[in-house]
Amino acid sequence: MNLILMGLPGAGKGTQAEKIVVKYPIAHISTGDMFRAAMANGTELGKQAKSYMDQGQLVPDEVTEGLVKERLQEPDTESGYMLDGFPRTIAQAEALTDITAELNKPLDAVINIDVDPKILADRLSARYICKTCGATYNKLYHNPKVEGTCDRCGGHEFFQRDDDKPETVQNRLQVNIEMNTPLLDFYADRKLLYTVNGDQDIDAVFAEIEKILAAMA
Ligand code: ADP
Ligand code: ADP
Ligand code: ZN
Repeated sequence: MNLILMGLPGAGKGTQAEKIVVKYPIAHISTGDMFRAAMANGTELGKQAKSYMDQGQLVPDEVTEGLVKERLQEPDTESGYMLDGFPRTIAQAEALTDITAELNKPLDAVINIDVDPKILADRLSARYICKTCGATYNKLYHNPKVEGTCDRCGGHEFFQRDDDKPETVQNRLQVNIEMNTPLLDFYADRKLLYTVNGDQDIDAVFAEIEKILAAMA
């Protein structure tokens, strides 16, 4: 099963991806997570990405496309993949069509998590993440079952992303809103687009996604 998860920043892509991989053995590929890891490790890629990410801008297409092309050749994608945060531009979508054709790993579906942009800034400012395993939480909507202890790994340290601070959030949302509609049209034209209502609680969103995946499997 080869998927794309689409949705504006804060729509719930990472949160739903965490739930999908528990049920389906596919590789979760988040370009944002890959860039953040590269930055933390101080690699060349991380240095290239940093100045863009710090401003809430997109990293240039060539850099991002190269990263995804390499990642889709890793063995764990043989059972399927789920792209999260890529593609974000039409150029990236076209590049992905070529890459998946060349690797013979065609897309099965694009799942769009649709949320009213007005609520996203508040969701993002309340997001916090487990330092150990990367699990995502929210001060308002989704805290660990035991306060201060990660549900997934038992870790006790959490952090807030620099680009979730109010100075960058608005810019990031604006950049993404403008690019989103043409991308949705691109996949609707190719009959691959499925939209779920992301304005419900986390489990209700997941139930809608499961229905789509069950019909495909
Ligand atoms: P969000 O959780 O807000 O959806 P991501 O974690 O996907 O954000 O991305 C964080 C940042 O990483 C983006 O603001 C951008 O700078 C960079 N990035 C991630 N994916 C891409 C992409 N497909 N193209 C260009 N830049 C990207
Ligand atoms: P994305 O990967 O699309 O940027 P996340 O999965 O990181 O989004 O979710 C953004 C924030 O909103 C996180 O703090 C997450 O816990 C929270 N969140 C995710 N889905 C929902 C939902 N359906 N209702 C309320 N909060 C949510
Ligand atoms: Zn954890």
